[in-house]
Amino acid sequence: MHEVSVKTERKTQVVDITSSVREALGEKVDGAAVLVYVPHTTAGVTINEHADPNVARDLEMSLERIVEDGWPFKHWEPGDENASSHIRTALIGPQVVVPLNGGKLALGTWQGIFFCEFDGPRSRKVLVSVLR
Ligand code: ZN
Repeated sequence: MHEVSVKTERKTQVVDITSSVREALGEKVDGAAVLVYVPHTTAGVTINEHADPNVARDLEMSLERIVEDGWPFKHWEPGDENASSHIRTALIGPQVVVPLNGGKLALGTWQGIFFCEFDGPRSRKVLVSVLR
């Protein structure tokens, strides 16, 4: 298993980690697919367009509007007012699986892997496992 570190700077931040995942895996990967997993409860991972960085910004804005901060949430601890962060994370999910083709990630031309921060800024980790 490989580990990728991500340092976020904003409360909600969608970060392209495609090149970091490739670096962690090395040149040629022997296996059927790669599991990218986020072991956090207020951050997730998804695959979407990375040719235009505005898609990531639009995703950030949309998720903040789909789940609003001002809702009457029950989850609350002093210093942990992040109920909306948990719900946004639940919508995105904690993992993606990318097939391998000839030892390389079989991502589509426009696809990238995005770490989705919903309670930043923080130092986070992403686990990358080769499935054989
Ligand atoms: Zn919480």
